[in-house]
Amino acid sequence: MTQSYVIIGDGIAGSSAAETLREEDPDADIIVITDEGEALYNRILIKEFAKGKLPEAPISIHEEDWYDERDIDLRLNTLVVDVDPDGHTVTTHDGEEISYDKLLYSTGGTPTQLPVDNSDADGIHHFWTFQDARKIREHIERADSSVVVGAGLLGIDLAAITAANDVEGKYLMRGNAWWRYALSEEGAEIIHDALRERNVEPVFESGVDHFETDDEGTVTTAVDPNGDRYDADFVGIAIGLDFNTEILQDTDVECDNGVVVDEYMQTSDEDIYAAGDITQFHDVILGERAQNGAWGSAKEQGTIAAKNMVNPQSEEFRWVSSYSITHFDFPFLSFGHPTLGDDEVEAKHSEDEWRRLAFKDGKIVGGVLIGDLSPQSKYKKLMREERVVADQKDVLMREQFDIDDLELEEAPAE
Ligand SMILES: Cc1cc2nc3c(=O)[nH]c(=O)nc-3n(C[C@H](O)[C@H](O)[C@H](O)COP(=O)(O)OP(=O)(O)OC[C@H]3O[C@@H](n4cnc5c(N)ncnc54)[C@H](O)[C@@H]3O)c2cc1C
Repeated sequence: MTQSYVIIGDGIAGSSAAETLREEDPDADIIVITDEGEALYNRILIKEFAKGKLPEAPISIHEEDWYDERDIDLRLNTLVVDVDPDGHTVTTHDGEEISYDKLLYSTGGTPTQLPVDNSDADGIHHFWTFQDARKIREHIERADSSVVVGAGLLGIDLAAITAANDVEGKYLMRGNAWWRYALSEEGAEIIHDALRERNVEPVFESGVDHFETDDEGTVTTAVDPNGDRYDADFVGIAIGLDFNTEILQDTDVECDNGVVVDEYMQTSDEDIYAAGDITQFHDVILGERAQNGAWGSAKEQGTIAAKNMVNPQSEEFRWVSSYSITHFDFPFLSFGHPTLGDDEVEAKHSEDEWRRLAFKDGKIVGGVLIGDLSPQSKYKKLMREERVVADQKDVLMREQFDIDDLELEEAPAE
């Protein structure tokens, strides 16, 4: 019997799932629904576009032909407004009901709004879609001063965009360091210095109390909780994502700041799977529930979900995710879950070389490398194999770390 698969979301998770479904089930009906007006593009590269370093064309990954060639029915500009698990249907904004045998929910997140006065004023940007990037690029090219809010991996992209356009800026952070849950002050200081060199001034113990606007409703000033005022005609906000679970709220599908799935990407409804940023998945390496916000992880989850939609419980998601930043003269990479764990170690080997590992139950669960990425594959291998190594921190932190220098007793996990 011909199976019908419906995928909500044409990001990297949804799109790679569609590709895998076609490979695994050549006769199936496959529909991919997205509210965006363009087929899959490289979300990672939209920052380079916004900087003015890349034209539009290389950002696109799939033309609409790609879907036609695979007999995948792509519905652009189509918002799914309801899911009915009992009836096995989804409903679109224009009232169309589409039936499925198996559904993939890969809807990602939407940038969180700053809950302060005037946060929706003209000149204030959030950053998730190619459309956002086009607006940012158009605006930043004519901006004079900027404020960026959100001391994480997306906030720094916005800061780098202002820097690349020679717009002087303030980067307002609530704590005393950039990405303080993953980096110590010593590690973060390398990033702070690199920002300062590019005319972006980190401001600590700050944030935004409210924005002021001119008579036309365009932002002019960010006022922080200390009462300090920062003039800005361009504001970028990246304080996190609200996961797009609202259309599952009236169903029995378990959600908890995302959609809860097992290691096979299956939700609490056996015919509904989820993949990508939206999932709270069972991380088999960590041994607990986790969430990833990274391209490679979303792609792999889409692939694994599709395999299990065709052959239930055939392949588990086992993955060490990584995320790199390429804005500076030195490389930066975080992997795994650097903000989790019960133990840690860090070392600084030179002015712009720093590393940190996070451990849980003696095993590496994540880390951050600045300046020298050469040990990354060794640390990731130890993490993937769930080796107990926290008792050998001095060896792990050696500048020329080698796995052979460790005393390893336990056999690798399968
Ligand atoms: C500027 C930027 C830079 C980044 N840089 C990096 C990086 O360097 N490295 C890295 O690993 N990751 C990076 N990421 C994160 C990475 O892009 C994401 O982890 C990844 O794209 C998630 O893919 P996804 O398919 O799960 O979700 P998304 O890409 O968010 O796709 C979800 C899609 O579903 C659509 N959708 C949602 N609800 C509905 C609905 N009801 N009906 C129809 N369609 C719907 C959305 O519009 C969207 O198109 C970056 C992200 C951004 C925004």
